[in-house]
Amino acid sequence: MKNNLQRENGRWGQRVLMPEQDHHLRCRNFDEVNLGLSEEAAIAEARRCLQCKSAPCIAGCPVAVDIPAFIAAVAGTRMAEAARILLADNTLPAICGRVCPQEEQCEGLCVLDRKGQAIAVGYLERFVADWALRHPEQLAPTVIPKASGKKVAVVGSGPAGLTVAGELARMGHEVIIYEALHDTGGVLRYGIPEFRLPKEIVDIEVARLAQLGVCIECNVVVGKTITLPKMRNEHDAVFIANGAGLPTMLNIPGENLKGVFSANEYLTRVNLMGAWRQDHATPIPRSRQVVVIGGGNTAMDAVRTARRLGAARAVILYRRSEAEMPARIEEIKHAKEEGVEFVMLTAPLEILGDNQGWVNGLRCQAMRLGEPDTSGRRRPVPVEGKVFELEAQVVVNAVGTGANPLLTATAPELGLNRWGNIEVDTTGQTNLAGVFAGGDIVRGGATVILAMGDGKRAAGAIDTYLQRCKGRPLM
Ligand code: FAD
Ligand code: SF4
Ligand code: SF4
Repeated sequence: MKNNLQRENGRWGQRVLMPEQDHHLRCRNFDEVNLGLSEEAAIAEARRCLQCKSAPCIAGCPVAVDIPAFIAAVAGTRMAEAARILLADNTLPAICGRVCPQEEQCEGLCVLDRKGQAIAVGYLERFVADWALRHPEQLAPTVIPKASGKKVAVVGSGPAGLTVAGELARMGHEVIIYEALHDTGGVLRYGIPEFRLPKEIVDIEVARLAQLGVCIECNVVVGKTITLPKMRNEHDAVFIANGAGLPTMLNIPGENLKGVFSANEYLTRVNLMGAWRQDHATPIPRSRQVVVIGGGNTAMDAVRTARRLGAARAVILYRRSEAEMPARIEEIKHAKEEGVEFVMLTAPLEILGDNQGWVNGLRCQAMRLGEPDTSGRRRPVPVEGKVFELEAQVVVNAVGTGANPLLTATAPELGLNRWGNIEVDTTGQTNLAGVFAGGDIVRGGATVILAMGDGKRAAGAIDTYLQRCKGRPLM
């Protein structure tokens, strides 16, 4: 179906641009960088969609949002209908519209991507989800389904846990989420900064689950406060989504100096504990020179946070070149605009300190790219004799995270792989009856939408299991 815009222009039209906060201003505040589409821009973008019958874009979405249907409703200015369609498939659309790596998911499969003009599905999703947050009175009232009499425990309130909880609650099951921290959301709360994902958005999307009857108990560390076997015995099924929050160490001298942080600690202090507010009690060093080691989204979040905390020089240190960086292109672009310096092809050898035990610099090794390794990326190799020093009062390690053994250590019969991740089948079922798992604890550090896809798939499998099982198998 050709729409008016295509007929007028005789071509597929230009992809809409996201309005942004000016970079001179935003590198000194924590307000959201992307400002969202106006209604006019959203409608024009929606009208570029070809409404493909085969809808290849849907296959790129792990929670199978009916993309053409919600976009058609936006194109027809039927926003309440667009919101209804979106919310039926996606528990957290205002979050996904902001942080999904759309270019690798739905937009990567859009037929217009071949012309470099993929429909901005993520921007449209954010537009509709934000519209729904502003117009709750225009949405259909929440219907609480008939109770099934079955009770499911969920470990962790990150995207995987929140999604499985929402889906199961809609099926009529009683769901309790046990969360170790004092607040909900997992990485959405403690990892991704306010300037990319305002916490108000997380609050509202979590509150929607509460309306469905999902109960969330914070400050419960499964493995300490309660063991997995005990939890299993008290519920009809369990879904484990405790993420992969254990920092990978650099294993170089100086790692224990004062002023050296893991990215998780640095970001948790700022995001969860409120240290970004000038008058807040949580301590965070506001230093002149900050070096962040790593090239992923976490590294970008940490270095952009350092700029906003006042660093005159905020540096990314990465051992490969920019082409190999795993961070989203948008994050790299934003970081550069905000004055972040990129020191590529460099590996840290040692973190240097003063006689008071505070970090004051890094000794670095220049690298070059050699042959590809098992991941297909070219392996960095040292350039002989090229060693230099960088000044820094804060060093942030953002090279990666792994599975935390705290929970799994109390359930030795749970099947794990050699990295400590829980092994599951294609439905999320572990080797223990009634125990399912998903998200980063299964995949290792991945993405919000993959964790949500795991939650949605496992909810279906848990529902089938609950309909079949008569009692609770004791662990
Ligand atoms: P998590 O979000 O890690 O949630 C796990 C929850 O379980 C946490 O709340 C934790 O406190 C809780 N928990 C842990 N142990 C226990 C226990 N023993 N008992 C009870 N509760 C427990 N992905 C994207 O798609 N886009 C991005 O832009 C993006 N940016 C990122 C930025 C940062 C800084 C980081 C760290 C990750 C980013 N990711 C991004 C990755 C993404 O956030 C994760 O893949 C996703 O959050 C995984 O979801 P999850 O539900 O499996 O786990
Ligand atoms: Fe695309 Fe993510 Fe929305 Fe799915 S949830 S349609 S992958 S932006
Ligand atoms: Fe629209 Fe692209 Fe999906 Fe086709 S593939 S329906 S153009 S979003």
